[in-house]
Amino acid sequence: MNKLFSLILITVLIILPSSVFAQKGSFAEIKQLQSPQNPRLGFIIHGGAGVITKGSLSPEKEAEYKKKLEEAVLAGYKALQAGKSGLDAVEIAIRMLEDSPLFNAGKGAVFTNDGKNELDASIMNGKTLAAGAVAGLHRVKNPITLARAVMEKSPHVMMIADGAERFAEEQKIELVDPKYFFTQERWDALQEILKQEKEEKEKKEAKKNVGKVSQTDLRELPYNKFGTVGAVALDKDGNLAAGTSTGGMTNKKFGRVGDAPIIGAGTYANNDGCAVSATGWGEYFIRLGVARDISAMMEYRALPVQQAADMTMNKVKTLGGDGGVIAMDKFGNIGISFNSEGMYRAYIDMNGKPVVEIYK
Ligand code: ASP
Repeated sequence: MNKLFSLILITVLIILPSSVFAQKGSFAEIKQLQSPQNPRLGFIIHGGAGVITKGSLSPEKEAEYKKKLEEAVLAGYKALQAGKSGLDAVEIAIRMLEDSPLFNAGKGAVFTNDGKNELDASIMNGKTLAAGAVAGLHRVKNPITLARAVMEKSPHVMMIADGAERFAEEQKIELVDPKYFFTQERWDALQEILKQEKEEKEKKEAKKNVGKVSQTDLRELPYNKFGTVGAVALDKDGNLAAGTSTGGMTNKKFGRVGDAPIIGAGTYANNDGCAVSATGWGEYFIRLGVARDISAMMEYRALPVQQAADMTMNKVKTLGGDGGVIAMDKFGNIGISFNSEGMYRAYIDMNGKPVVEIYK
């Protein structure tokens, strides 16, 4: 009997620890992270979430998106490998996506209801919780760089519109003519939405159902919600960083600001939790404080990053919103979650190779 008991005890002692070590974010990984010879690096980017179904992109367009995403994810990762900080990697990759007309940020920004391009961005340092954000820009070529300047060179966290652009001038950050942001495709998308909105209004008026457009009514409008860009990084010092940049939503009105420049909604980074960048229907992400919510679940409840991201995205879905997030914890574990048809995304896998995905 005694022998049997010892046998069971030995078996339990052998099996239990090995199954614990086999989990993601295990002690083995902590050891690896602490070794300066073999630091774990991590990098994920996104290029927006939305109605991107298989077959909705031409093979040429799909290849163009994949190429740019791969270029950007590799550029950020190489910066990390060269010893640069997570903030550098985030800024480098986001600038590349901002300069591409493919994404709804910088050069490819969507149009507001009154035919302007109005840009927002934010960035956060997971070690110090320093953050910088900008909103309502018309002339800043790379909003992410201005957001970083707000974080590092001003006593503030958020600057908007003309004031933010005056600060950009002071900081010698590149300004462009607002015409730089014009792209035919985004202009046509606005015209299409305006047309549909007009038809919708006429239908409602016919039903004598005129009135304020409520949150629920907004859902029926054909908003074009994809193309925002973002990145999260884990650098050689074990520090997390996150950043997001967007043109917002096509047809947005009267100084509307979405979640992308709101710290805790579209962007968040905390070494004790995770780094997050979001994309999707901003109003819902603001109301749920999505990025902070994911990190908080890890900080308070020690949830794995994928589970935390899924739980928060479920809340977005329940409330009626759509979109997605990329997230990373201090061990380099990846969390990618979205409830839209697709999300442009790319990350570096365990072997240091880029993985680019678009659909579910
Ligand atoms: N979240 C952005 C916004 O609401 C839009 C997007 O990600 O597509 O401004």
